Amino acid sequence: MPEQPDFTQMLRDVGLRVTRPRLAVMDALHRHAHADTDTVIGVVRQGLPEVSHQAIYDTLRALTSTGLVRKIQPLGSVARYETRVADNHHHVVCRTCGSISDVDCTIGAAPCLQASDDHGFHIDEAEVIFWGQCPDCIAASA
Ligand SMILES: [Zn+2]
Ligand SMILES: [Zn+2]
Repeated sequence: MPEQPDFTQMLRDVGLRVTRPRLAVMDALHRHAHADTDTVIGVVRQGLPEVSHQAIYDTLRALTSTGLVRKIQPLGSVARYETRVADNHHHVVCRTCGSISDVDCTIGAAPCLQASDDHGFHIDEAEVIFWGQCPDCIAASA
């Protein structure tokens, strides 16, 4: 298991009030990277059965807009969320089953932020999605 971050402090650092649903959503996403909304609802409700769908949608929106959570939405997929933020990592997505894995920038911290032509923009993120087939699907179709 990855070590448990201090979600309380993280919420405070971005000026969000610390609530049990917010802590539960952070914890769910920490343990289930790239979870979709339904997965988050299922996991959160194991510990907090009374939390409404709407409260979880609102929580995901608040966490995403403050940068604590990153939202990714590969073409043809529902939105997925993760707590691994601000490192400009990328994703590889299986065309067959939709599974998602993290891919670090290949060289150093974030070389792909150096666009070949930045058009005068100050670039802070490069959203790269690698598409292909995952090992399970390759094995299944062999
Ligand atoms: Zn697959
Ligand atoms: Zn990721």
